[in-house]
Amino acid sequence: MPDVLIVGGGFSGLAAARTLHQHNRSWMLLEARERLGGRTQTHTFADGTYADVGGQWIGPTQDRMYALAKEHQISWYDTYNEGKNILDLKGRLREYTGLIPKMDVLSLLNIDWLLKKLERMATQINVAQPWATTNAAAWDRISLEAFVRKHSWTSACYKVVRAGLETVYACELNEVSLLHALFYIRSGTNLNCLLSIENGAQQHRITGGMQPLAEKMASDWMDRIRFKHAVTSITQTADGVEVKGDGFSMKARKLIISIPPVLIRDIDFTPALPLMKQQILEKISMGIVGKVIAVYPQPFWRQRGYSGQVVADEQSPFQTLFDSSPDQGAYGVLLAFCIANRARSFFSMDESARKQLALETFTRYFGPEAATPQQYLDHCWAEEAWSGGCYAGVYPTGAWTNFRNELAQPTGAIHWAGTETADVWYGYIEGAVRAGERAAAEVLQSMGHV
Ligand SMILES: Cc1cc2nc3c(=O)[nH]c(=O)nc-3n(C[C@H](O)[C@H](O)[C@H](O)COP(=O)(O)OP(=O)(O)OC[C@H]3O[C@@H](n4cnc5c(N)ncnc54)[C@H](O)[C@@H]3O)c2cc1C
Repeated sequence: MPDVLIVGGGFSGLAAARTLHQHNRSWMLLEARERLGGRTQTHTFADGTYADVGGQWIGPTQDRMYALAKEHQISWYDTYNEGKNILDLKGRLREYTGLIPKMDVLSLLNIDWLLKKLERMATQINVAQPWATTNAAAWDRISLEAFVRKHSWTSACYKVVRAGLETVYACELNEVSLLHALFYIRSGTNLNCLLSIENGAQQHRITGGMQPLAEKMASDWMDRIRFKHAVTSITQTADGVEVKGDGFSMKARKLIISIPPVLIRDIDFTPALPLMKQQILEKISMGIVGKVIAVYPQPFWRQRGYSGQVVADEQSPFQTLFDSSPDQGAYGVLLAFCIANRARSFFSMDESARKQLALETFTRYFGPEAATPQQYLDHCWAEEAWSGGCYAGVYPTGAWTNFRNELAQPTGAIHWAGTETADVWYGYIEGAVRAGERAAAEVLQSMGHV
């Protein structure tokens, strides 16, 4: 029997495996899908072009990600960030450069003031113990939506801030507690970092896509990975754990679970998980995000002076657009984020209606060339059984103050990883890696390693 079983072959499970491997522990990894990478997925089209349909960007302070890329001789490149951006507000397109859209002065002042207020509040967050922050009780009582509405003096400010923050959290702002929103900001350095390309979380792309990095991490130990092994029950025994799924049963001394919280609820635990753990698992919901991708022979918008970036109010099916082309703009990729209620509405249409609406929208922004991509793909992560939504688990009001960091607390021989157990870069791939390494360190320590 191996020392450790790991459930989940996303970046967190793989980081845990890598750490155990470095310490010569025996382990096996069980993955429900037929692929690695979890919420990262690099899609290769029939013509050889590719696009990341899941997590794709890395940026400053994501030190583990840069180290892993270096270790596997994978390079990264700058996200394209030159030229005019577009603001699609109240049915009108306005072009602007830099971070400040062309709007009336009051709305501009309001946006600046509101984002700085969030930024200042986030600096007060105790990132290791958000519930212990001085204003935690008050901030956990209201949603981010209530806060943004209260402090928006103009409807234009509300619409722009809402589209930006929905892109950060991948949910309606009334689904997330203000305390969680502030924790998320602090966990990812600051709000400017989360919203920005330059010096921000969107600064770099991994050459060749993100999922190949996950595959490279595992390339030396593929024989220890079991695909199509969805875990359905876990029993803690006197000498460890017994894990079962359809047609398999395995034992180990320790277990690391690195799957999204909403999917942990589907596993049958004996003995039952502690009440606090069960209840926090019931509270955390997943965001809903779809990526809408069009591939063109060239990034034609660049020649016309556009960055490919758009921020749009609710009249558009998409909150934000980016230039997601590969290195050197070898071909052009436009990427739109379709989030929360806009995603629920967009993905309730059939595929041809979605494609038509998406390409009409892209054409409205960038002209007739946008109407005829060589490839089109849209992908809703809420429809993925083994993700249950994206980008990450969302804490509603009251969850942090009532349940603290119960999610990450070991349960006997079970240790918990996954980006939702990270305090630094929660919700991001960096957080997933750090959480996997932390869970593996806990296991090693409990087995007598210093
Ligand atoms: C559209 C989108 C865009 C994003 N953009 C970015 C970005 O640009 N940068 C960034 O840093 N992050 C981004 N993220 C978030 C990032 O992808 C995730 O935070 C990260 O990949 C989570 O990794 P994880 O290992 O914690 O979980 P996962 O990747 O979800 O891995 C969990 C694994 O467990 C498996 N599993 C689930 N249930 C079971 C079971 N019962 N038995 C066995 N296996 C099971 C799943 O198949 C999966 O492989 C994005 C996510 C999405 C979807």
